[in-house]
Amino acid sequence: MQSVFSLEGKKGIVTGLANADSIAFGCAKALHEAGAKLLLSYGHAKSEPHITPLLPALGHPSLVFCDVRDDAQLQALFAQAKEEFGTLDFVIHAIAFANREDLHGRVVDSSQDGFALAMDISCHSFIRMARLAEPLMPQGGCLLTMSYHGASKVVPTYSLMGPVKAALESSVRYMAEELGPQGIRVHAISPGLIKTRAASGIAGFDAMMQEECGKTPLRRLVDIHDIGQTSVFLISDAGRSLTGNIVLVDAGANIKA
Ligand code: NAD
Repeated sequence: MQSVFSLEGKKGIVTGLANADSIAFGCAKALHEAGAKLLLSYGHAKSEPHITPLLPALGHPSLVFCDVRDDAQLQALFAQAKEEFGTLDFVIHAIAFANREDLHGRVVDSSQDGFALAMDISCHSFIRMARLAEPLMPQGGCLLTMSYHGASKVVPTYSLMGPVKAALESSVRYMAEELGPQGIRVHAISPGLIKTRAASGIAGFDAMMQEECGKTPLRRLVDIHDIGQTSVFLISDAGRSLTGNIVLVDAGANIKA
């Protein structure tokens, strides 16, 4: 799909690449096709062979290993961005994690450590990225993360990721207020269901997709390229007056009971 918005001259980091199914790949591809320069990061060593073949379609960007639990790795990622680009125009955070036993259990039974881990990787890492991005965005910029409808409504199989995404969405609003005076805009995109590696950890995901497909107003599901196009719009100058939003890209699923 050709982008109607130009990102010519814009530079940014896309995190969360695991393979060709990743939402991060849909974003990276759309951003590259709109003219942006990218620095990519991935968080699991075993993902590398699945990512390397994707690099030609993204303009051969640098690829950095960065486990967001390790502050030194996160700092090194932003140091490399500074070295390659000087300044940044955008950062995409497309990262989430919860231990399987917590994800498959009740929120009521979630472990203290498991909840803290899910919150750290899936929410606070976005805050840490914003802190590192801020000095690299003297002319403003755009920070995007990925949420899900389970943040505001109970989706039983989403378990503790519901409260974690709720914290992420609230963080987006506070960060938008705090960074707005510098022209740094902050949003969460909230995609409908997409079959990715992270999604495969959610019990009954295929059945959820089938049900959602029949009920969306557009009578279809969204894909990673829809999320990519939305990220292009939000980062582009066309999105310059938008901040603090939870942008639902779900073929309308959220309006149905
Ligand atoms: P994915 O598995 O392709 O991406 C998840 C990424 O998180 C992976 O690249 C993984 O390596 C990374 N990650 C996990 N722990 C990490 C760590 N410690 N350090 C660095 N990276 C780490 O799956 P996806 O569906 O593309 O997920 C991207 C985002 O989209 C997530 O926030 C997810 O919650 C969100 N989302 C997905 C859907 C869906 O239906 N797939 C719907 C709504 C929101």
